Amino acid sequence: MSLLPVHLLGSSALRQRSPEVAAVSDRDRAFIADLFDTMRHYKGVGLAANQVGELRRIAVVETDAEHRYALVNPVIVEREGSIKEEEGCLSIPDIYGDVERAAHVVVEALDETGVKRRIEGSELLARVLQHEIDHLDGIVFLDRVGPFKRRRLIKQWEKSREGKAGLVRDDVPESAPEDAAKA
Ligand SMILES: [Zn+2]
Repeated sequence: MSLLPVHLLGSSALRQRSPEVAAVSDRDRAFIADLFDTMRHYKGVGLAANQVGELRRIAVVETDAEHRYALVNPVIVEREGSIKEEEGCLSIPDIYGDVERAAHVVVEALDETGVKRRIEGSELLARVLQHEIDHLDGIVFLDRVGPFKRRRLIKQWEKSREGKAGLVRDDVPESAPEDAAKA
């Protein structure tokens, strides 16, 4: 098990669009295993490659035992409805905000073996899929909350970072509201 360094808001890796993976390699498979380990360590439900400083179009999602996905080059091919729910992010610890997302999505992606998969998600799974694909495009959930709320949350974030150096997590996993999705 290897833990990867989770980058925090302010790291430039979070603001770049990750390029597509040409073919899924053994190196990618090892990386995906490490992403899962890191996501679970921090009790998240999703993690994207650029959150650990790697600009590759790869993310992992695990909302429960039956819904565990490695996503390589994921694309949303269908979206339906909309729903607003609270969201958090492993790169912005302890900050939560309501984000409006499609209620149902269909995502096409390669899995860790390079096979193309079609993943249908509703509720939490739909939300996490959209959150991770946003990451791969350099977007964080704070970009999707209203401007007033965003200012307040960014202030709260800056205050929580006062006196702390570095843009990589060095904390032990914190306890979080049970129903907030951290990805
Ligand atoms: Zn996130």
